[in-house]
Amino acid sequence: MVFIICYKLFLINLNMENYIRIKEGVDNFYYEEFNILKSEIQKDIKVEIINNSEFGDIGGRFNFLKQIIYVNSEQSNENMFLTLLHEYGHFLTFRDYIYKHKICPYEYGGNILKRELGAYYHGWKYIKSNSIKVSKKIWKEHHIQILKDYGVL
Ligand SMILES: [Zn+2]
Repeated sequence: MVFIICYKLFLINLNMENYIRIKEGVDNFYYEEFNILKSEIQKDIKVEIINNSEFGDIGGRFNFLKQIIYVNSEQSNENMFLTLLHEYGHFLTFRDYIYKHKICPYEYGGNILKRELGAYYHGWKYIKSNSIKVSKKIWKEHHIQILKDYGVL
């Protein structure tokens, strides 16, 4: 009996260690991916990392007037990575809009659903054309969460 309990505890411990190792691996992976992506995106637009206290409870923001992408550092590396892709999607949407319509896209930005779907679409195009390791499922889930946070869904 004691042996079985010890053995089970040993297995649980083994699983926990594996879990932590896998989690750390995923975290390191996204940390590196984030930095690669950041230096790539900074060829187009400035990226600033700021912490929660000065930012409130959101993952990121694209400031159109200042032409800066802000990313909240108080989230997992994976979410920082997805946030940066999403905000860059906003930048690409706006750039596309100005190019097509030759006007400042204030009105466009006013419609939350249209604006967020623009970031979804342009972000996904960027992910595909640069072979970035993000699955469609994760990309969708990330945007469903964003729309829920905005109260649109
Ligand atoms: Zn957004």
